[in-house]
Amino acid sequence: MKTPQIVRTRAQLRAALDAARPESTGFVPTMGALHSGHGELFARARAENDLVVISIFVNELQFNDPGDYAKYPRTLEADVELAAAAGVDLVFAPDAKEIYPDGAPLIAVSSGKLGELYEGASRPGHFDGMLAVVAKLLNLADPRHGTYRAYFGQKDAQQLLLIRRMVADLCYPVQICSVPIVRTEQGLALSSRNALLDDDQRHAALVISRAIRMIAERAARHEPLNIDDAIGLFQMEPLVELDYFVVVDPRTLQELAFNCQDTPFTGEGLILVAAVVGGVRLIDNQPI
Ligand code: AMP
Repeated sequence: MKTPQIVRTRAQLRAALDAARPESTGFVPTMGALHSGHGELFARARAENDLVVISIFVNELQFNDPGDYAKYPRTLEADVELAAAAGVDLVFAPDAKEIYPDGAPLIAVSSGKLGELYEGASRPGHFDGMLAVVAKLLNLADPRHGTYRAYFGQKDAQQLLLIRRMVADLCYPVQICSVPIVRTEQGLALSSRNALLDDDQRHAALVISRAIRMIAERAARHEPLNIDDAIGLFQMEPLVELDYFVVVDPRTLQELAFNCQDTPFTGEGLILVAAVVGGVRLIDNQPI
């Protein structure tokens, strides 16, 4: 197992990329506290590229809640071990001054109307802050040589859609690749925030994937979805506070009405869910 090169500054990152001159580069931005979900992104990047670069940066700009930022898990040593096991070549782990030398950027990318829905409605400013850092990181990790791919998880479906739109709208020379959600055996979507749950909360949180499965199975059988039944499952879990459970158009995120008792499901949709468990916000989704 090879230890990845760890770089802390933009200049070191540029020097390492210039020295490598790879035919293809796979870049995976993360906030650290790495788990097998991130591992899956690294594995895809490893399988498809000569050089694999990851970043680890907890981006304060995308946290609307300072408490959430303060308690976000930070585990750099273990992260480097996981990156090494996944065959990552280069880890960019900057501090905030390196990314925002002049403080919050004056000129910023706006997530527009798509960024005001769902996660954006519950976490004002979240997506603008996320795009601010992804816009920068995609430039900083640009190999300026060969094929450039960046990898994102379908776990953050709204984020993925916004990044695809930013890259298309601003003509970034990078291919965006997406990786399916990695779950525990019981179904809980892996998340760095799961580390903040105790056993009871983790067990209660399984209602999220259970509710998704109920609706996805109905969709697969072309039955009426009756999503109120899924919402009812949450009412039986006092530890879990549902924020939203919706079925949306996967391209526009506009909500589709699926409560009709006798309208069978046809076409395409995306189930989007957010819930709070013990003060920890969890999101999940599934295309149907
Ligand atoms: P984060 O460190 O939470 O910002 O996540 C970094 C990347 O890993 C994002 O593209 C996420 O969508 C992706 N990711 C996080 N959890 C999972 C998961 N359970 N399955 C697949 N991708 C994930």
